[in-house]
This record gives sequence, C-alpha cells and structure tokens, in this order.
Amino acid sequence: MIPVSAALDQLFQLVTTVGTEEVPLAKANGRVLRADAVARRDQPPFDGSAMDGYAVKNAEAVPGARLTVIGESAAGHGFADTVGAGQAVRIFTGAPVPAGTDRVIIQEDVSRDGDTITLGDTLDQGHHIRPRGVDFADGSALTAPRLLRPADIALLAAMNIPAVTVSRRPTVALISTGDELVMPGGTPGPDQIMVSNTFGLAALLRDLGAAPRMLPIARDTQPSLEMAFELAADADLVVTIGGASVGDHDLVGKVAADLGMARSFYKVAMRPGKPLMAGRLKSGAMMVGLPGNPVSAMVCGHVFLAPVLRGFLGLPMGPAPRRRAPLAADLAANGPREHYMRGTLTEGAVSLAAQQDSSLLSVLSSANVLVIRPPSAPAVPAGTMVDYIEI
Ligand code: AMP
Ligand code: MG
Repeated sequence: MIPVSAALDQLFQLVTTVGTEEVPLAKANGRVLRADAVARRDQPPFDGSAMDGYAVKNAEAVPGARLTVIGESAAGHGFADTVGAGQAVRIFTGAPVPAGTDRVIIQEDVSRDGDTITLGDTLDQGHHIRPRGVDFADGSALTAPRLLRPADIALLAAMNIPAVTVSRRPTVALISTGDELVMPGGTPGPDQIMVSNTFGLAALLRDLGAAPRMLPIARDTQPSLEMAFELAADADLVVTIGGASVGDHDLVGKVAADLGMARSFYKVAMRPGKPLMAGRLKSGAMMVGLPGNPVSAMVCGHVFLAPVLRGFLGLPMGPAPRRRAPLAADLAANGPREHYMRGTLTEGAVSLAAQQDSSLLSVLSSANVLVIRPPSAPAVPAGTMVDYIEI
C-alpha cells in the first residue's frame, strides 16, 4: 500500500498530454487553450467616453461655464472635426472622445438650452474617459495553457480572435465489470443491481473536458474482460471499475497483466478506494483500475482522475485543491488510512454524514465536500479546522 500522494505522483508519470485542435470561439468555453492568443487590436481602439454627457476641454470645465454644442459623438459614429475654444460635443457611452477635448461632463451636471450648455455649480470630478488600449493593447496575449472560462471567451472575442487552439478532448474508455450489473432502463434479475459508477464517472470526466466512452459491461470472465480491453485500445486513458480486489471473481489485475500491462502500483492507503491500480497498457494507453464500490469509484474520480485529466489536457498537475473549514461537531480518531469523508459545508462549517459506508450513493449525493482525515489523526473537537475538497 502506498500513500495517496505517492499514488498521485506515479499516476502523473503515466500521463501523456494530448494533441490540439482548433475550435471556434463559441465552442471554446471549458477547453484548455494551448497556444497563446494574441490581441489584434487595442481595446478600446480610441479614447472613449465612459458616460453620457458632453465632451469639453478640461481647462474650460469650470462651474457655470457656457459652451456651444457643435455636434455629436455616438457609439459607432464619432465626431470628425476638432473642438475649439468655447465649444462642446454631445457624447454617449462608448463613443470616441473628439479631438480637442479631454474630459466628459456627465449630463446630470449640465443644463441645455438649444445649442448652449451651462455647466452646473458643482461638477463631478471624474474625466470619464477610457484611454485607448486601457483594457488591452495590440499584441498582448492570453497565455497558454489555460482552462478557458466565460470571462476569457469574452476577452478573446474583444481581441478579435474567432478561433483558438485547444487540447483535443482526451478519450477515456470506461469499463464496468461484474455479472451483477445491468444498464439503467434494463430489467435486473433478482441478484442484480444497476450499473451506476460508469454514469457518474462519465459525467465527472465530461465536466473536466474529456470525451468519456462507456464500453459494454464486462462480465466476470477472462474473455469478456479481454474483449473490453480490446474495445478500449485506442483510448488515451482506460478506466476499469470493480473486479480489482482479491476475490475469486476479481479478474481485472490478472487480465491486464496477461495483456502486458506494466503495473505502477496496486493498493493505496486510503478510505474509500484502497484497491486502486494503475499502469501502462501495451497500446501505450494509461490504465487506472478503480474499486467497484460506487462511492469509492467516485471519490477516486475526484482524487485521482480529475488531477490526471488536467495533465492530459496540458495543465499543470497537482492534487485536487484543498480548502479548510471548521468542523460543526466533534470527530473521532482516524484509522491508519487517509480517509475521504462525505460531508456538507454550510455557512462556514462542515458536518460529516453519519453513514460513511462506501456503497451509499445517496450520502454522496447529499454531500458537497470530502473532508480529508490524515492517517491516524487523533479525535478532534468541534471548531477544529479540517482540510476538504469540493465535489
Ligand atoms: P468489486 O470491486 O467488483 O468487488 O465491486 C465492489 C462492489 O461494487 C460490489 O458490490 C459491486 O456490485 C459494486 N459495483 C462494481 N462495479 C459497479 C458499477 N459499475 N456500478 C455500480 N456498482 C458496482
Ligand atoms: Mg465485481
């Protein structure tokens, strides 16, 4: 058994970053930028007004001043001439500030009579001008690698970048194993249950930017498992679920080894999720064997697959980000394995679910965090700060 951190290090060594593809901006959210995106213009491309009002010379902007309005500058329709002494231009938000002016007096501070304006007794002191290039300059870059968020998409659009180079979606083959498993919508026999992990993991992986592929359920026979591995041959990452313990019907380790898998490790000192294995298949693909218990599989998805996926996508690799919160109640001592406990974080304190059995999907579904208890951690009172990861 190796610690979680050692298992992660070994997993990271098995990762190969995938290649790239070009996608239109409208489809780039959630993808990983792999080539710097370089602005093709200044933003704004001119000194622009930040308010509706009147563009004037700052030197003439004194309370009570009277100026003559000689034209208008609206968004998309600037004022072409130069503004002279005693003159002003009606201006609107987003419009170019006319030559000869360097301040916008907000319309609330102005009274107008025909083409004459009179500035009020007290003037807002802001100049209300957004200088050319204040947001970004021509040639400035959004640098890769970067997981693109909605704000980035808006920025790229403003930079006049219609398409970006991103990581292609890593293909992840998901192989459920077990004679007892039936697809949702099917008719389970009296000794059977629905396959659930594959669906949960596929959802998790898709959220992370992968292209998960659910393979047909492998039965607990060697030929059935071999067939599943064959179907998975072209995937970047092959994930098996179940069949990884030491029971008579747990064939994943044996079949993978027979097929030439070079094993990196087997068994991790954690709860839930101890019977985890990983290695490299003959095809070159990375393989991770997850435990079958539904909560174990999902916890391992968060703790191991998510960080690994970031590597496939070309992002820096590291453990799932941890945060800290105080316990809402006392907590008993932990055993020798790192424990990922299902909990709920509300109003700044974390409560742990009473039931921590690794088969209880309803408990996992109610949880929004996994509280991490180090191996052999002592009992601690309510209020103690603990580490958690969001799920
Ligand atoms: P195993 O590791 O194959 O012994 O499986 C451990 C437990 O997880 C057993 O109760 C299995 O029925 C259950 N299990 C295994 N794979 C899945 C799956 N894909 N979906 C739901 N439950 C599963
Ligand atoms: Mg099984």
